[in-house]
Amino acid sequence: MPELPEVETIVRRLARRLPGRTVIRADVRRPNVVRGSPRKLERALEGATIASVSRRGKFLVFRLEDGRVWWSHLRMTGQWRVERPRRGSARRAGRARAARDAPADPYARAVFDLDDGSRLTYVDVRTLGEMEVLTARGWARREAAMGVEPLSPAFTPDLLDDLLDHSGRQVKEFLLDQAKIAGIGNIYASEALWRARISPRRRARNVGPVRAMALHAAIVGVLQDAIRKAGTTLGETSQDYVDSDGVPGGFAEFLAVYDREGEPCRRCGTPIRRIVQGQRSTYYCPTCQR
Ligand SMILES: [Zn+2]
Repeated sequence: MPELPEVETIVRRLARRLPGRTVIRADVRRPNVVRGSPRKLERALEGATIASVSRRGKFLVFRLEDGRVWWSHLRMTGQWRVERPRRGSARRAGRARAARDAPADPYARAVFDLDDGSRLTYVDVRTLGEMEVLTARGWARREAAMGVEPLSPAFTPDLLDDLLDHSGRQVKEFLLDQAKIAGIGNIYASEALWRARISPRRRARNVGPVRAMALHAAIVGVLQDAIRKAGTTLGETSQDYVDSDGVPGGFAEFLAVYDREGEPCRRCGTPIRRIVQGQRSTYYCPTCQR
């Protein structure tokens, strides 16, 4: 499931290609990837020009030139792909177009043709992802309900300590709460807790200021490291994360605990344990995380 580093990687790729582009034709092929009416989304986007591409938590944010916001959440298996415009002779271009329009990706759920001949495709095997076009005010309301951005200056050790103090949940589950901190999911929650030597089962309010400072550094550190490696790809199926050029992320080999059940802790050698918290897997070292 794409988390902050994966969404950030996609956003950086798309931000090089999409600003200034106008959507010529929008075609939603699976209505459930759109919140609300798919026809309304198609009409809202046809003729609209993309001003910028950014990220908020795990959301991709396409700002349109008229101020509206087209957001996309990838959930489990959502992906964005960009196909570049075809160049060369008209015959070759025609052939390329035929190949492109023929049996496309079976998981292409929405297709957006752009004014430079390129095509933006939303691919999603499990179709749990969602997108919507909102007014600037509608998006501002949505955004106000989201937690702090962990890579922004607003996210300080003091703020984290304060948020932890007011939560009775286990710290792993606290980290997944998008209304507290936006963008962390199952992988980076486990990794940050290992780096900070905190047990995922510890109550958030019992973390305390010293461990909170370590956790703050661990969250920022692991997210930045993962962005540098273009995110985490765990497998090779069409459900696994790839960027908008179809390229997998390189952080999996640097994971300390996630998906490493039974393998030795990289700090102390104890076999990594897997437990289930809130129906999600948590990986941790039972010896050096307290
Ligand atoms: Zn250990």
